[in-house]
Amino acid sequence: MKIAFYDTKDYDKLWFEPLAKEYGYDVVFYESRFVSDTAILANGCDAACLFVNDVIDEKSINMLYDMGVKVILLRCAGYDNIDLKACEGKITVLRVPSYSPTAVAEYAAAMMLTLNRKIHKAYTRTREFNFKISGLMGITLRGKVAGVIGTGKIGKVMIEILKGFGMQILAFDPYPDTSLDVEYVALDELLKRSDVITLHCPLSPDTRYIINKNSISKMKDGVILVNTSRGGLVDTQALIDGLRAGKFMGVALDVYEEEDEYFFEDRSNDIIQDNELIKLMAYPNVLITSHQAFFTSEALEAIARTTLENLKAFEEGRPLENEVTLQGK
Ligand code: NAD
Repeated sequence: MKIAFYDTKDYDKLWFEPLAKEYGYDVVFYESRFVSDTAILANGCDAACLFVNDVIDEKSINMLYDMGVKVILLRCAGYDNIDLKACEGKITVLRVPSYSPTAVAEYAAAMMLTLNRKIHKAYTRTREFNFKISGLMGITLRGKVAGVIGTGKIGKVMIEILKGFGMQILAFDPYPDTSLDVEYVALDELLKRSDVITLHCPLSPDTRYIINKNSISKMKDGVILVNTSRGGLVDTQALIDGLRAGKFMGVALDVYEEEDEYFFEDRSNDIIQDNELIKLMAYPNVLITSHQAFFTSEALEAIARTTLENLKAFEEGRPLENEVTLQGK
C-alpha cells in the first residue's frame, strides 16, 4: 500500500516515518495542503492521509477516485471538512476518533488559567523587567461555575480537571451520559449561569454558530469562553461585537473559523488580509493559538498508530471500527 501524506510537518514524520516502515507501507510526504489543485499528487497511491484544514470536497474526492485512491485516512478526530456524501460508494473514510482526549482537555484548562491569571501578559512584562502587577488580576476559580458544552471523550476529561479546581460543573449535551456526576441543564441555563464556558462538541449543521449573538447575550458579563473544538462553533463577528461591548473577561481560541488560511504556517512576514483575525488579535483579553491542543508526543504517536492500523484493517478486509459514513460514527 502506498500513502500520499499531505500537509507534512517535521513533527508528523517523527512518528509516521518509522511506524509506516514497521507496517510495510510506502509513504510519499508532501508539504502541500490537500485541495483539488494538489489532489493529483496522490496519483499512483492507494491512500491519502489528510488533516483538519484540508478541503476534501466533491471535486477532489472524484479526482482521488478516478486515480484509484481507495481510502482517505484522516489523521484527526473531526470530519467536518469532508464531503461524506461524495465519498459514498467510492472511497472509504477512516479517522482517529480518540488519540488523547487528555491532551486537548489539559490544553483547554491551560488556556483558561492563562487567560484568567493573565500569564501571557505577565510573561512578556517580566521579560522586559516590568514587574508591575496592575492589570493582571484574575478570579479565584474554586466555587465558580464551569459550563461544559459536549460531554464526550474530551468534555469528560475537562470535567474531571475542572472538578479538581473545585468548580461547580454544568453540562449540556443532547446525548447526556447518565453515569457522569454532573448537572445536565438546557443550553440557555448553562449560558446564563456559567463563569467559564468551554466547548467540546463537534462541528455539525446543528452546532455551527452555537455561540452567536443570541447565545452571547445570554451569558454572564465577565464570562471566560474557551474554544478548543472547531472554529465554526463560534460566529466570529458576534464574538467581536461581544468583545467590543466588554462582555468577556477573556476569550481563548485554539481554533478559528477561517483558520485554514493561517494556522500551522508562519505568516509573520505577510500582510494579513483577514480583518476579523486582525481585530481579534487586537483585544488584550483574547488568547489565540494555532490549533495545538492535540499537540503532545503521546497524541502524535497514537495518531500515527491508529491511522496505520486503520489502513491495515482496510487492507486485510477486517471490520472498520473507525470508518466515518454519512450516518456519522
Ligand atoms: P466525542 O464525539 O467523544 O464527543 C462529542 C460530544 O459532543 C458528544 O457527547 C456529543 O453528544 C456532543 N454533542 C453533539 N452535538 C452537540 C450539541 N449540539 N451540543 C452539545 N454537545 C453536542 O468527541 P471528542 O473526542 O470529545 O472531541 C470533541 C471535538 O474536539 C471534536 O469534534 C473536534 O472538533 C475537537 N478536537 C480538537 C482538537 C484540537 O487540537 N484543538 C483535537 C481533537 C479534537
